[in-house]
Amino acid sequence: TTFHDLGLSKTIVATLSALGFEKATPIQEKAIPLVLEGSDLIGLAQTGTGKTAAFGLPMIEKLLAEARRPDPRNIRALILAPTRELVNQIADNLRDFVKKTPLRVVTVVGGASINKQSEMLSRGTDILVATPGRLLDLVARKAVTLTQARYLVLDEADQMLDLGFIHDLRKISKLVPKNRQTLLFSATMPKLIAELAGEYLVNPKKVEV
Ligand code: AMP
Repeated sequence: TTFHDLGLSKTIVATLSALGFEKATPIQEKAIPLVLEGSDLIGLAQTGTGKTAAFGLPMIEKLLAEARRPDPRNIRALILAPTRELVNQIADNLRDFVKKTPLRVVTVVGGASINKQSEMLSRGTDILVATPGRLLDLVARKAVTLTQARYLVLDEADQMLDLGFIHDLRKISKLVPKNRQTLLFSATMPKLIAELAGEYLVNPKKVEV
């Protein structure tokens, strides 16, 4: 299946082609149409399956089609991941995808300068990729506002729970609007993840690879 067949626009398809992405991976084939139609999604997939593009491409497509927010500190999409490495990996992928668009991607992770991150956020971003703890620190400093985030992605949700981020996730879920699209990816589906999905997702579609 090509990315065009999955409903992505010419601009994005051309960008993908330049990156050497011609055919969609199985998770992309299953997830992209569902995300484009607005469904909440549970994706059971490991890293290396192409899951970043599976949630990133349709999200970018929708962000490009929606009106831009006037307040730069009010982010439009939030992606949470357990580690600095994963946050950077996701952001690198997304930056490749948005290269020919006006969309901006910013990362915030623990263990790096919070002042620098605050300064980056003050310039405004559409997509924020973050580890949960540092995100909450920045929210407390009013460096970023989540009240208009229309997309929430929880990546490697099982690992986030293993690392003890459950309380942070609960807090963050109260800061984003109820009226949003939520995508949860996990390599495994323990009971706590299923519970979390029940709390945060509405009528989710399930895809597995
Ligand atoms: P991920 O599982 O999202 O970490 O992706 C694993 C790697 O596969 C990344 O380096 C992607 O850039 C690459 N990739 C993802 N989807 C495709 C695709 N459809 N065609 C070629 N490479 C891809």
